[in-house]
Amino acid sequence: MSSADAELLSRAAAGNELAFRALLGRHDATMRAVARRFSDARVEAADIVQEATLCAWQAARTFRGDSEVRTWLLGITLNVCRRSRRRRADEPAALDPLEGHHLVAAAEEPHPVTVDLHLRLRRALRGLATEDREVIVLRDMVGMSGAETAVALEISVAAMKSRLHRARLALKREVEGGEAARPAARADTFGCADVLEDLSLYMDGELGAEGAAAIDEHLRECDRCTRFGGDLARILTSLRESLLAGD
Ligand SMILES: [Zn+2]
Repeated sequence: MSSADAELLSRAAAGNELAFRALLGRHDATMRAVARRFSDARVEAADIVQEATLCAWQAARTFRGDSEVRTWLLGITLNVCRRSRRRRADEPAALDPLEGHHLVAAAEEPHPVTVDLHLRLRRALRGLATEDREVIVLRDMVGMSGAETAVALEISVAAMKSRLHRARLALKREVEGGEAARPAARADTFGCADVLEDLSLYMDGELGAEGAAAIDEHLRECDRCTRFGGDLARILTSLRESLLAGD
């Protein structure tokens, strides 16, 4: 628990607007980054952060201290995103602003393999189901712990883990779907089905000593899983790097 955050929030709850502004200053870049991943345009992301800010100010007194302040703020941001999505549900879908950019890049660039991984990741993220995108953004981009992510999504830790695993596989599939020029590399890029989930936990450092030893042993013998782990690690590192990069 960040005591500075908790201190600022408790002063904000007592009506201290300056403390509230200071608190936001510590987290609004992350709130904006989360909002951007769930909206069609920068303008809408700004609206979402503004609405989330207002909600947080009004709800400051209800914070119970059973999660990190950051988790609480991002949970509020996520709820505003969901409300906004529901409002938009009947409207015609907006054109993905990345679509045009990608087409231009693809036309000018004969080797899609060199298209920036960040760009491919952003496109792949947009191709995921909302549930999958939420868990990836919070856990793998924002870098929340497994427990924090579960709190923000209002699901159990076990449900979070299995959703995260499914989402990472879907993301990897989406990223590779964009690598049209690598048919050879695309074949068989997933590891052994029976160890994939443990491998994911292993990479998060959430597998017990016994399980980790079993994975170590498997990796010594299995090139396919070693390659899969390497690919996934590269994707997760890029996700973290791309969080605050402008869209
Ligand atoms: Zn294997």
